[in-house]
Order: sequence, then structure tokens, then C-alpha cells
Amino acid sequence: MINQYAGTCAACRARVPAQGGQRVNENGTWRTYHNECVPVRLAPPAGSHSGWHDGRMVAFDVETTLPDPLEARMVSAALCDVDGTARTWLIDPGVPIPADATARHHLTDADVRRDGRPAVEALAEIGEAVNGLIAAGIPLVAFFASYDMTVLRSELARHALPPVDWSRVAVIDPFILHKQVEPHWWGKKTLADLCAYYQIPLVNAHTADADATATLALARAIAARHERIASMTPPDLHQAQIGWFARDAEDLQRYYDRKGIQKTVSTQWPLETRRRG
Ligand SMILES: [Zn+2]
Repeated sequence: MINQYAGTCAACRARVPAQGGQRVNENGTWRTYHNECVPVRLAPPAGSHSGWHDGRMVAFDVETTLPDPLEARMVSAALCDVDGTARTWLIDPGVPIPADATARHHLTDADVRRDGRPAVEALAEIGEAVNGLIAAGIPLVAFFASYDMTVLRSELARHALPPVDWSRVAVIDPFILHKQVEPHWWGKKTLADLCAYYQIPLVNAHTADADATATLALARAIAARHERIASMTPPDLHQAQIGWFARDAEDLQRYYDRKGIQKTVSTQWPLETRRRG
């Protein structure tokens, strides 16, 4: 986080003016650094233990029209398997794509009108593919999964398509897992930030298949480094993440309330039912 007060840089010992650098928590001790002096963090090496990270799993990622998962329409989706195969969909959502969404994923109205599949067709295939994975007991991996999963559920309902069997799903969310294994992490936790830490290449970020491929590698990298995560069964891990996500969200809500920031944080994972503030 940005340093509120002036201090001395823990690396070069020169003065850091107030708000001119970073406060960094290193194993419980807060230190001040210039932005350019902050040490580069790298994840610990992988262990040799076995676990779910050796097994089959499939990552799911969507790109959409809106930040609210209850309102967002899918414009692209990807399912990436650990065996290296992937299925991707480019979808014409039938509604205009807002400029800020296009700025993120670079898909325009013209792109999806020219090359996209009709939403109902593509969503039927995606729902069927996801249901097939769930029926086969294959975990689904998604980064901040409550977004992607909630979009999928809402889109299937919107188009009167059969729902996914959410009661049997096992979701693995590396965003939640990272928070568990690195409780003193400071700064941003985007997919790109975490990929840098675990040394996972991420090219073409914010395209569904690139993000899904990186998310898959990220989940496996975390499990390979933390036996307590790797040794859980995916269904047990799914249950545990529900509680971990809710606790992290409650902490964030308390922080917003303390700062007087008018924001409502969802505590629901992997499906949101309430509108976010
Ligand atoms: Zn410095």
C-alpha cells in the first residue's frame, strides 16, 4: 500500500516522502520503500508432494459486457483442460458492448457481429460442456470464480437453457487459495500480479483462453507449493473456499465501512445472488 507518512527506504536508506512509495509487510514487519526499491517477490519453490494438482481439471473463463455478473452478457468463453486442449467461444450477445468492456478485452460490436455465435447457441454448448465435466467429477478452475460462475448461471437462465448442476460442482479458485497461503500479501492480486509471483507466463491477458490457461497453471502452482491445499479433495476444498471467501469479504467490508467507502462486498461464492453495491 502507498505510504501515508514520510519514512526511510528499507533498501537504499534514503528518505521516502509521504505517499511517494510503498509500505510493505514482510513476514509481519512493515517496511517503507521507494516504488522502484520494492523487492521483487517470487513464490517459494514447488514441493514434491502429490495432490489434486496432478489430476485432471479444466479452467473456465469468460469475457463479458459488464462488471455486474447478474447483468453481464458473455462475449467470449474458454474451457482449458490440463491435457492442453481448449474449447473457446466467441459470442454475439445481442446487446451493444460498452466501451470500457471493449477496452478490457478488445472485442468490439463489429467483431462479435461478424464472427460471434448467437448467444443461445453458444451458451447451450457451454452449459452442456460444463455439466459434462461436473458429471464426470472434474474440478472447474476459475480466478475469482464467483464472477464467471454467476455469469454462466445468469446467462443460462436468461436464455431459458438447462441450468448447470451446481449442487455437485467442485470449483477451485486460485484467487482465494493465494490469500490463504500468503496472508501477508500486500498490493494488487490480479491474475497478472499472481502469475508474475508464481512465474507463470501470461500473454494476451483478458482473452478468455489465455486467462483460463494461466488460471489453471496458477491453481496447480499454489497446490504444488502448499501441501495442506494439495492434500484436500476438490469437494472438501470447494467447501473450505466458501468459508475463506466469506471471511475475506467480511474483512474487506469492515475496511470499507471504517474508511466510509460506500461499497457492499459480496460474501457469496461461487454463486452470487445479491446485487453488489
Ligand atoms: Zn529506496
